[in-house]
Amino acid sequence: MKRNLLLTPGPTQVPAQLCEVLGRPIIHHRTPQFQDNIKQVVEGLKEIFQTKNDIYILTSSGSGAMEAAVVNLLSPNDKAIAVDGGKFGERWVELCQTYGARTIVHKVEWGKAPSASQIKSLLEANPDTKAVFITLAETSTGVTPDVKAIGEVVSKTPAVLVVDAVSGLAVQEIKTDEWHCDIVVSGSHKGLMLPPGLAFVSASAKAIDLINKCATPRYYFDLRECKKAMEKTDTPFTPAIGIMIALVESLNMIKKDGLNNMFVRYAHLARAVRAGCKAIGLELFPDETCATNVLTAVKVPANIDGEKLTKTMRDTYGITFAGGQDHLKGKVIRMAHMGSLDEYDILTGLACLEKVLFQMGHKFELGSALTAAQKVLNNKS
Ligand SMILES: *Cc1c(COP(=O)(O)O)cnc(C)c1O
Repeated sequence: MKRNLLLTPGPTQVPAQLCEVLGRPIIHHRTPQFQDNIKQVVEGLKEIFQTKNDIYILTSSGSGAMEAAVVNLLSPNDKAIAVDGGKFGERWVELCQTYGARTIVHKVEWGKAPSASQIKSLLEANPDTKAVFITLAETSTGVTPDVKAIGEVVSKTPAVLVVDAVSGLAVQEIKTDEWHCDIVVSGSHKGLMLPPGLAFVSASAKAIDLINKCATPRYYFDLRECKKAMEKTDTPFTPAIGIMIALVESLNMIKKDGLNNMFVRYAHLARAVRAGCKAIGLELFPDETCATNVLTAVKVPANIDGEKLTKTMRDTYGITFAGGQDHLKGKVIRMAHMGSLDEYDILTGLACLEKVLFQMGHKFELGSALTAAQKVLNNKS
């Protein structure tokens, strides 16, 4: 049987010990047993979000948590600033516009990061801005902005800062409280190594104030109801019970590994992947200065069809990379280094990439990506 190695930036590999938990019989959610589960999940997530704020649990994909942020913060005609430097920044723009916000779209060239000073100028020109929307790890381009500096700027204004940390959480640092991130959203199927189905929203006191004043109608994603339920260690609706139970185990695994050790490990894997790609003539897509360690996006050589490359890797060898999105379709490939992936997964991915690129006529010495990556992996510094 063919392997199915997901080197994609979501969904990610689910480790065997979590698969085992996911296969257990279901329990009822209105029970003391499940309340204990909710308690453990919230405590564990607070450590990863690095926050003392409320955390609400939604049953949806990551975009559901993004929609929850928008419908709970912005009333129709409210002003919002959304940073659009890729597919997921664009999602913030589309959500804000869908709900009738006057949306200032801060366009950033794909592969580059927005700067705090640009956001400061926009806020000075628009002092009535209610919320600023950014992305911790822009999964379409491999870029991470300076969230700390942006948080500093936004915290001095009446606006709240909303951060999409769907792919970034538990893979790269986010200090929710210290960096003044009023709302942080994430999901179960990226750094937390679980199937899609759960999404999380943290909310500061500043955000809760805005949530209570918001005039936009909402029902399933009403965070006021989530807050009420959470105060009774409950959820407003039936949650994805099986994933909630497995999440306790996932959070324990992360705790045992140590959050910081994980960040160091992903950075190490990222360096190895980049060295490997460079050795076979593949250039990093984002600016080196703002590249996230969540994934590596590299340009496909001009004479190679990137879509055919990823399709062959997946369909012939069972190794899945992500391709490019929108105008980058066929032009970049993206390899994740997140969740349960380790150095041998990375080496397997690079080996397959070499093989298929070579078959497609790209010129390089076979084994050079692996050699370069191995050298980085064997040098712990
Ligand atoms: C995966 C992802 C999302 C959410 O996507 P869903 O398909 O709704 O789970 C949002 N933002 C970023 C940056 C992501 O990588």
